[in-house]
Amino acid sequence: MRIIVLATFLVFSFFNYAQKITITADKMFDGNEMRSNWGVVVEGNTIVEVGPINRITKGDSVIHFSGGTLMPGMIEGHSHVLLYPYNRRLWNDQVLKESRSLRAIRGAKMATKNLHAGFTTIRDLGSEGAGYADVGIKQSIEQGIIEGPRMLVAGRAIVTTGSYGPKGFHPDFDVPLGAEPADGNVIQKVVRDQIGKGADFVKVYADYRWGPNGEAMPTFSIEEMRLMVETAASSGRDVVAHAATAEGMRRATLAGVKTIEHGTDGTEEVLKLMKERGVALCPTLGATYSIERYFRKWDGRDETETQAIKNKKAMFKMALDLGVTIIAGGDVGVFEHGENVFELELMVDYGMRELDVLRSVTSVNAQTFGLENLGQLKEGFLADLIVVDGNPEESIKDLYNIAMVMKDGKKIEIKN
Ligand SMILES: [Zn+2]
Repeated sequence: MRIIVLATFLVFSFFNYAQKITITADKMFDGNEMRSNWGVVVEGNTIVEVGPINRITKGDSVIHFSGGTLMPGMIEGHSHVLLYPYNRRLWNDQVLKESRSLRAIRGAKMATKNLHAGFTTIRDLGSEGAGYADVGIKQSIEQGIIEGPRMLVAGRAIVTTGSYGPKGFHPDFDVPLGAEPADGNVIQKVVRDQIGKGADFVKVYADYRWGPNGEAMPTFSIEEMRLMVETAASSGRDVVAHAATAEGMRRATLAGVKTIEHGTDGTEEVLKLMKERGVALCPTLGATYSIERYFRKWDGRDETETQAIKNKKAMFKMALDLGVTIIAGGDVGVFEHGENVFELELMVDYGMRELDVLRSVTSVNAQTFGLENLGQLKEGFLADLIVVDGNPEESIKDLYNIAMVMKDGKKIEIKN
């Protein structure tokens, strides 16, 4: 791709707030539609104009990306900056053997990787035993100590007593858990405490692998989750649910959660219910794929695909056909931070149109997460935008080719 600087009277600078920067490209995806020869004008941290190249103001600095696509900064719907791939270290060992400070420092670096991969916002789905280190990482980004994406964080997340890991120890051991237990009448206190400590939303595990044979089974009752939803809602926050079983999904949906994570064994009945109630599905295809590769010795080929992959594909297709809102979130951390686009590749692979995947990872994620001025290139929206080499509507893989990242009107130096 050729980057043509047509006129530059300033360098991109955080401090030159009054200056206007015009950024154009051969293609522009605005969060909804793909256009040709459009661009934006940025002033300070805001998009002030959007339109065809010949109609928008030529700013103090004008840059055209020939062969590139300009689009909103992507939004990762399901990350864990405090985790890294389980084939490098098992989840149990990350939770039990690594200090919180080590995990936080690594997590900060992982947050930066997400930004450099074109994800200017991430929704982080739980610190997995690292307390409120996610809140600290978010604050260190906001204070300019490290460079990273905007973050929405869950904090510790909520599980029922007895369900969550690490498991398998002598009962007298008090093992640090990957999330905070709460049941019955302490639920309100725990929800409020998590909010007070910095959770932007509350994550609940509606089921977990605690069946008699280690299979996933429901955890909380509908009433318990409804109490969480009501308690969080009165502070203006959503509850989102990890759910792999149809019954866990059903209970969470009826309780009023905003999104369901994984949805592994979702049936037609429960997916229909989600659609009816406006509950979005975050399919985390990348996590399922990675787990099968790490632990079931799957070689990744279609011909040898495991039952778990077959099921996930079928569930995803059914959700698509039924018109359930599908948000984009891969559970990145289970696979490498910075390779977030892998989830989007799988979404296309499993039957979603490229344009719909682009909508998911920008405007649909923004709307679902209540980010009112993000996810679209639109007048008055925040200047979070990226340019990729190529055209992701033709090849979703082009999203790996990041040519520019701008967050809050500031151009980010990309190092790999
Ligand atoms: Zn997760």
